[in-house]
Amino acid sequence: MSRAKKSWGFPRWGEYGVNSDPVGVRECDFEGCPEKADHPAPKSTLSDERWWFCVNHAAEYNRNWNFFEGLSNDQAREFAEREANTNAGYSSADPYSWGGGADKDGVSRVEREALDVLELEASPSPAEVKARFRKMAKALHPDRNPGDKEAEKAFHRVRAAYDLLSGRSKIYKGS
Ligand SMILES: [Zn+2]
Repeated sequence: MSRAKKSWGFPRWGEYGVNSDPVGVRECDFEGCPEKADHPAPKSTLSDERWWFCVNHAAEYNRNWNFFEGLSNDQAREFAEREANTNAGYSSADPYSWGGGADKDGVSRVEREALDVLELEASPSPAEVKARFRKMAKALHPDRNPGDKEAEKAFHRVRAAYDLLSGRSKIYKGS
């Protein structure tokens, strides 16, 4: 748990392929890790490219990944749907695979993050989601915070989280 806390040390920028195993066993993309990599993880929310990690580094990467960074509007929802589809094909019932499956409430990691962005507990009603979004979006709106880059980023995160949650009604109570 102590390795590369800040800079993260991975992945092996620029040398990917240089050390590739001739017999075709994929090695973990975390620098210095010789483990077999059978866990794909998206390089960014907006990219189709993937890193390949061992089970432990996939879990660590997953925990440190900021889903809503640089994300706006419909991209969150599209990404979540794509991950839900592709992830099932990689490894079913694997708690460390990208996307993390779903927790005991049936909420995926991405949905949980969206709830966190909106500072909501699990299973809010659609009305609660909407009310929270309106309140936060109003406070963070660029018109109210001219030139404030942090507020602008936060506004986009809130917007993306709302778009994602409002498009995935299965997590809502009674729906
Ligand atoms: Zn590894």
